[in-house]
Amino acid sequence: MRAPQVFIETFGCQMNEYDTEVVRSILKARGYGFTDSADSADVVLLNTCAIREKAHNKVYGHLGLLKPLKEERGLVIGVLGCMAQNLKKDLLASDALIDVLVGPDSYRALPDLLEKAAAGRKGLAVDLSEYETYADIVPDRIEGVTAWIAVMRGCDNFCTFCVVPYTRGRERSRDLISVVREAEALAASGCKQVTLLGQNVNSYRDGVHDFADLLGAVADIRGIERVRFTSPHPKDFPDKLLEAAAGHPKICEHIHLPLQAGNDRILQLMNRTYTRAEYLALVARIRRRCPDIVLTTDIIAGFCSETEAEFAETYDLVEQVGYHSAYIFKYSERKNTIAARKFPDDVPDAVKAERVSRLVELQRGMSLNKNRALIGKTVEVLVEGDGKYADQWKARTDGNIVTVFPKTGHSIKPGSLVPVRITDATVTTLYAHPA
Ligand code: SF4
Repeated sequence: MRAPQVFIETFGCQMNEYDTEVVRSILKARGYGFTDSADSADVVLLNTCAIREKAHNKVYGHLGLLKPLKEERGLVIGVLGCMAQNLKKDLLASDALIDVLVGPDSYRALPDLLEKAAAGRKGLAVDLSEYETYADIVPDRIEGVTAWIAVMRGCDNFCTFCVVPYTRGRERSRDLISVVREAEALAASGCKQVTLLGQNVNSYRDGVHDFADLLGAVADIRGIERVRFTSPHPKDFPDKLLEAAAGHPKICEHIHLPLQAGNDRILQLMNRTYTRAEYLALVARIRRRCPDIVLTTDIIAGFCSETEAEFAETYDLVEQVGYHSAYIFKYSERKNTIAARKFPDDVPDAVKAERVSRLVELQRGMSLNKNRALIGKTVEVLVEGDGKYADQWKARTDGNIVTVFPKTGHSIKPGSLVPVRITDATVTTLYAHPA
């Protein structure tokens, strides 16, 4: 009998991409096959994100597109991930198309729920767990030279704008040995770069080891050439972690350091637990230890009650730090968060949009200058695969900047570490030639 075919579409962050690999592994073990289109699928799963309104709307849009397929041939439709967890029964009740809703801690229940759904019974599994880390499940990855490993899940920080503590529950970490085993297996299969993932990755603690221990242990694995991590919280950067990151040549010189806002009142309203001065002191400490570090960030413009003068402090801080790039968003109220319950979303949309575009313009100028400053220099890049054009390689610098260079007669292949000379630069991309 033909195995039921599943099509999974993933929205949102790298953790969701990783979870899709975990879900594939769970379903494969129960005899499911996979297809790359909803048209040829028996089951369509949308692995969703709840971080912004836009992400929600995208999922509703996709559900609408699936309606004819559902009516034509009784497709089973499942919604997984943060949106499923956050909206729970409301979502199941409001959308007749959905058969199955499964939150991020309940993926082991998915095969049973899909079987019931095929027999016409809707199902829901949205319990949060204090223990689930999926440490024993080997994600079903598309083999490549880079891979993600989730080392911790959940978040205890309760930033007031953020839905993650409600959709992904409390912080919990895998034990170091299970992460090292997974990274060793990846190295044996040809993977060269591992990115350690967690909602608060530097809060990692397995009872014996902290994040600095974990970084060092993964970087020591033979065959792994680069180690990255995302996303850290500025509150968890002890000297031991900086020493580990700066002292090991395989740990990349890139830190994504979410700022969110540069004004103390707004930072406090957001419950970010650091002040502007503390954040700047951390940046200075990082740069003293790692002068060539590439810093990137996340910023929210137009948080509840943010005044023009308060926004100006964010703008000023972005300029002062001089990030290499930044994800800049308008504040978007998320259901069930502390901000949604306590603070009116009172900055007009047009004002938020205008603040975002001012920051984006500032950042684009800085990104371009920083990339242009690399012209003429020779840097080592890791080749990830083909570029946009078949005669180009796409690679990344140690600082995570996308670099493209022509395929010449050299024996370069995905996974090669190649010295290249930078010849040109745009806001987002470096152009190079093998050195
Ligand atoms: S640290 Fe804050 S923004 Fe990050 S996941 Fe936790 S609550 Fe959300």
